[in-house]
Amino acid sequence: MNVPYLDISTQTRLIRPALDQAIGDVLDSGSFVLGPHVTAFEHEFGSALGGIGAVACNSGTSALHLILKALGIGPGDEVVTVSMTFAATVAAVLYTGATPVVVDIDPDSWTMDPEQLRGAISAKTRAVIPVHLHGRIADMASICDIADAAGVPVIEDAAQAHLAHRGDQYAGSFGLAAAFSFYPGKNLGALGEGGAVVSRDAQLLKDVARLRDWGTDYKYDHQTLGFNYRMDGIQGAVLSVKLGFLSEWTHERVRKAIVYEDLRSKPGLSLPMLDTTGGHSYHVYSILVRDPERLGEELARLGISTGRHYPVPVHLQQAYRGAVQPIGDLRRTVEFARSCLSLPLYPELSDPQQEYVIKQLDHLLGAQ
Ligand SMILES: *Cc1c(COP(=O)(O)O)cnc(C)c1O
Repeated sequence: MNVPYLDISTQTRLIRPALDQAIGDVLDSGSFVLGPHVTAFEHEFGSALGGIGAVACNSGTSALHLILKALGIGPGDEVVTVSMTFAATVAAVLYTGATPVVVDIDPDSWTMDPEQLRGAISAKTRAVIPVHLHGRIADMASICDIADAAGVPVIEDAAQAHLAHRGDQYAGSFGLAAAFSFYPGKNLGALGEGGAVVSRDAQLLKDVARLRDWGTDYKYDHQTLGFNYRMDGIQGAVLSVKLGFLSEWTHERVRKAIVYEDLRSKPGLSLPMLDTTGGHSYHVYSILVRDPERLGEELARLGISTGRHYPVPVHLQQAYRGAVQPIGDLRRTVEFARSCLSLPLYPELSDPQQEYVIKQLDHLLGAQ
């Protein structure tokens, strides 16, 4: 049996007529950059997150960069985040000239440890960026309390957390603003690059929208140095179609994550902490094992593809070492990076495919 790590072509095939229709509409409209399809998607996405404002842009990285720029963050400032994330979180801070200060993760949730955050805040701290790693919402109550007490805004990196929620509150609505990514492999993926900033702060969104489009409110009237970070019309139209399925797809991810719970009794591996609120979006389903490289290779020989998110923490990467200020030894981050292995989990993963993954894992772990 063959079990790919991701299967975007199956998802595309299943909704192909609706995608063709949406793309056709954009071709007819001639609105290829921003325009009515992008505006409609912004409204729909904001509504899906419980009624919040949204500004669409060309990637999750741009979304983070735009929020930081709109807050006026730059050289001499510090932004506290984590090292167990995709490099974009840290890169966006570096793009502004500010210094990323990275703290360790909590051993259970694998997201920012609030106590570590407390110790990292200095007079130079201008923002805190928790990452909802794998789609699990970070401890936002504690993080927001600590940041509020220091008078520092919280920016959520929600690139992996579309529709993740705590009670009736969605990821992206806990802090001052949040960044989402619509990279094709994300839970809500465009047919190319895409991202969005969401916030309840209308002025902040207005500033973000201006910076996204060359720093202008009116054509050729440049008030501030902006960027070309606009979303394509086709991506807006396609994302509107896919957003209609997102709740169902997220439900399927959660259902499959519960099936993986069968592995909890097996020796030699740790599973993600159970999210008893059911609000995890399971962008990634990562297990911790002693030798993930070897287990990944053995699974690959059996036709099962896996991933690693992420095998090298950002502060230890060649491009970031020196530019990033770590707080302490980031022991748990390093340990997590050494042990993590991501299993196939997506709405289109069939029950027989998942049973096969569990059976082979069971067998391999028993033999170790
Ligand atoms: C994907 C991702 C980003 C960047 O999004 P892009 O759309 O690829 O630029 C940022 N942060 C995290 C945690 C991500 O997973």
